[in-house]
Amino acid sequence: MLWFVLTTGACNLRCRYCGGGFPAEYSPPRPLYRAEELVETIARLDPDPVVFFYGGEPLLNPRLIMEVMDLLPGARYGIQTNGLLYRRLPEEYWARFSRVLLSIDGVEKVTDKWRGRGVYRRVLEALGFLLELRRRRGGPRVLVARMAATRDTVIDRDVLHLLGLGFDKAHWQLDAVWSEPWPLGEWARGIYLPGLRRLAEWVARRPWERLSRVAPFHGIVSALYSGGYRWYPCGAGRGAVAVNTDGRILACPIAVREQWAVLGRLGEWSGRLAPSSMLPERCRRCSYLPLCGGRCLYAQLESDYWPRELLEELDRVTRRTIDIVLSVVVPAVERAVEKGLMSPGDVFYDPLEESTEVIP
Ligand code: SF4
Ligand code: SF4
Repeated sequence: MLWFVLTTGACNLRCRYCGGGFPAEYSPPRPLYRAEELVETIARLDPDPVVFFYGGEPLLNPRLIMEVMDLLPGARYGIQTNGLLYRRLPEEYWARFSRVLLSIDGVEKVTDKWRGRGVYRRVLEALGFLLELRRRRGGPRVLVARMAATRDTVIDRDVLHLLGLGFDKAHWQLDAVWSEPWPLGEWARGIYLPGLRRLAEWVARRPWERLSRVAPFHGIVSALYSGGYRWYPCGAGRGAVAVNTDGRILACPIAVREQWAVLGRLGEWSGRLAPSSMLPERCRRCSYLPLCGGRCLYAQLESDYWPRELLEELDRVTRRTIDIVLSVVVPAVERAVEKGLMSPGDVFYDPLEESTEVIP
């Protein structure tokens, strides 16, 4: 199981699509429980845990990270961070992470416009530290650029830029549903989907090297050959849970306000999971479900943020994304497997090892 551990509800940035952390009444800036209680719950319920530190900005509370990693040495660890405070965590902990997801949106002007002036350079400093640490100590094993794709994103330009900086792979989420409504469909048709096709063509030229570098493509191709998604690829509430700083166990790490997300409370939780009825009928009837999984539980249940027409645009973008992967990437992967350039194992991708949502 994937465990998101919110070390704090606070954040040191105020990105334009996010607003910066959670209100303290929903996610206090410091945990109201002790690390021992958290570790006891994880150890009691899960023989093979993957633990990702999350926030707010998790490095605002490095102490909890160190305590958990000391108390539960056998788990696999990861972190989703903006990286600016990387010096607060000693390097022996950084080296133990199997995955580090650093938030960065692409080229400097795009990242700084949405995340704040000077942020790009500071993330690059953290990336440089992690690359150098990996050379010396062998970890962190995988470095992921975690992007938000906004109306300023040119997806092939921005992904290839980040891969060129030394990230092992990129994953992105569309700036949809929790920001103010904007003409996403128009942008997708004019800019995003053509860029996505160019990126797919780039992967298709050397899929044995490149498929694993573009997480959404890898997750879709993997689903095609491993039976398909039956639930949200992020695992929300079933393969993944989040422990909020107030001790509540949530189905989704951003759903700190929403009552439907509460699965239990640390210390008392019996392992009750989100009911399958949380995958709506419209997804069950959709022929893209096996490769989409419903995309995002939060967006499905909180569908009042955006008007229905825009949510339908979002579905169209998801379907065209899958079509591009099926028509451009999949044939190239099949040829590469036939020629022995890739093994079926190279095609498999488990988003729960990496805390990605697969579908942007
Ligand atoms: S494309 Fe839309 S309707 Fe279809 S499964 Fe995905 S989220 Fe659900
Ligand atoms: S994809 Fe949606 S449901 Fe899943 S973790 Fe992200 S916000 Fe939550």
